[in-house]
Amino acid sequence: VIELGMPTRSVVTTCAYCGVGCSFKAELRGDELVRMVPYKDGGANEGHSCVKGRFAFGYASHPDRVLAPRMRESIADPWREVSWEEAISFTARRLREIQAAHGTSSIGAITSSRTTNEEVYAVQKMVRAVFGNNNVDTCARVCHSPTGYGLKQTFGTSAGTQDFKSVAKSDVILLIGANPTDGHPVFASRMKRRLRQGAELIVLDPRRIDLVRSPHVEAAHHLQLAPGTNVAVVNAMAHVVVTEGLVDREFVEARCEGFEEWEAFIAGPEHSPEAVEEITGVPAAELRAAARLYATGGNAAIYYGLGVTEHSQGSTMVMGMANLAMATGNIGRDGVGVNPLRGQNNVQGSCDMGSFPHELPGYRHVSEDGAREIYEQLWGTPILDEPGLRIPNMFDSAIDGSFRALFVQGEDIAQSDPNTQHVHAALAALELLVVQDLFENETAKFAHVLLPGTSFLEKDGTFTNAERRINRVRPVMAPKTGKHEWQIVCEIAQAMGYPMHYDSADQIMDEIALTTPTFAGVSFDHLDKVGSVQWPCNEKAPEGTPIMHVDGFVRGKGRFVETTYVPTRERSTRKFPLILTTGRILSQYNVGAQTRRTANVAWHPEDLLELHPHDAEVRGIADGDMVALSSRVGRTTLRAVIAERMPVGVCYTTFHHPVTGANVVTTENSDWATNCPEYKVTAVQVALAPEQ
Ligand code: SF4
Repeated sequence: VIELGMPTRSVVTTCAYCGVGCSFKAELRGDELVRMVPYKDGGANEGHSCVKGRFAFGYASHPDRVLAPRMRESIADPWREVSWEEAISFTARRLREIQAAHGTSSIGAITSSRTTNEEVYAVQKMVRAVFGNNNVDTCARVCHSPTGYGLKQTFGTSAGTQDFKSVAKSDVILLIGANPTDGHPVFASRMKRRLRQGAELIVLDPRRIDLVRSPHVEAAHHLQLAPGTNVAVVNAMAHVVVTEGLVDREFVEARCEGFEEWEAFIAGPEHSPEAVEEITGVPAAELRAAARLYATGGNAAIYYGLGVTEHSQGSTMVMGMANLAMATGNIGRDGVGVNPLRGQNNVQGSCDMGSFPHELPGYRHVSEDGAREIYEQLWGTPILDEPGLRIPNMFDSAIDGSFRALFVQGEDIAQSDPNTQHVHAALAALELLVVQDLFENETAKFAHVLLPGTSFLEKDGTFTNAERRINRVRPVMAPKTGKHEWQIVCEIAQAMGYPMHYDSADQIMDEIALTTPTFAGVSFDHLDKVGSVQWPCNEKAPEGTPIMHVDGFVRGKGRFVETTYVPTRERSTRKFPLILTTGRILSQYNVGAQTRRTANVAWHPEDLLELHPHDAEVRGIADGDMVALSSRVGRTTLRAVIAERMPVGVCYTTFHHPVTGANVVTTENSDWATNCPEYKVTAVQVALAPEQ
């Protein structure tokens, strides 16, 4: 068999890319990974996959991988390779020295949405039990933190309501600020299947995304709104529901609270489709028709992406969608609900595991005495009852000198976070930056210690996908670095004087289950038996929970919240007359650290700027020209593409390539509740690059 080049063994594991969480059989010949075969029994994908999960795994053996720890005194010095012992004892000593000199709160950590639940849990434990503060945040801060806030306020928990299968029972799909064909391809296939069977589609997006009109699928309504006006549109849809007698009164009376106040608010004439037409650019008649379809077309489900969350009113919009779903009774059964399409493989899990500075695992606020006591007893140390620093606060505090040391796990904040110049200034101001990653990424350029990370093929643990499904990540090979990431975190904790030890990743999951009510029934043994399970999984729901809020909301009654539309302060001006919105493309993934090191790079070798033909023509720009893209905070150069799908006055790019560094132009504006950056609205100018 070996002579024929055929695989000799296989391991079932989970894709390391998007939040669909597809299961694969990794097939090996000896220790060499031959291919990834979509797993037919995978709960999320049932044998389907996309081009990233199937083919883009070569980065794990790329020569750029950092395989041994590195250190340097200053970022001007060259790296020197050191032993694990030296790297860990230096890191621990410097963290303690900095705390002694500048206070307990002067250090912190950022976790990743690409590492396992167990790895994330270990980092937040190190911060709370060893650093003695709550200065832990996750890269979900810059994508779905408004989902966490908005769904908790309205429904009581920070997660999507449905399993993916549920879409097969939807009669109407309201797709907001998401392009699943590129971002969540396997779920997009499920959605398209249902649409081909006759379900109706409403798309709310400034761009004419593929699903608006593609073979066999045509949206009933495309509400092509102006960027930044989501809340005005969703309020206008709710206004139609309320003023045209389309409220599900029985559902609202039995299951919700705050309806009467909200009804009076939303019925106000300022929320009518006619009143907001000029602001949103959506024709009032089209908006009314879409609202009627959503309210009366049968089971209506909302699916949404970062086009909802990455706004100054991201949290408001999440609550606005929840209001709409509750008012029409579209919660708590198959085919309905409010569902975030999570970008990264473990965004849901990193949030579940307590890596927000205000929440312990399971979304319990650090001020809750009962929740803190569980950890204080188990960990034998007090837990601070005040929230710690969010990522943007860490940057600001680094610049003002009160925050001095940062541990970053699997996250390239120097490329992914907005206003690159500000981020670079913050990182350069730190006394100690420790980066744990597969590669020497943009953030590592500012680091003093670079600790090698493990690829998904080397990890042992779990990822939690966008439908709350906990999937096993099984090691296909031993860590090429000699250590699991959770082991490194434990060793730093021990070197700082705190006894933190696990024999294996399943012991960490056992601790998670012991301390987190929604995970009480989860263990590696159980997952190996049943394949995967959707939380809550506990005594009340031993088989897990595919659909949430069936008999009652997690918070008891669903809560209507008044969602006043407040325009973003980012405005187009004479100097910056266009609005830039950013996103992703199918073949690439986030900052591209993984996909740029696979054959996928050939499909999208550079970031492109999409421009409407009119905007290109008035600037003398032809398809393929290099252009300068500038905003009030920065400037970069990239290639222009003339795209009919863009509306006049709006342009679009991706942020997969550091050479473009699209976040050089994005600003400090962020969501009022969570500080999620406003990546989707930046006033810019575009001109032919001077060198042409
Ligand atoms: Fe991986 Fe997402 Fe593609 Fe599935 S859809 S194979 S999880 S990238």
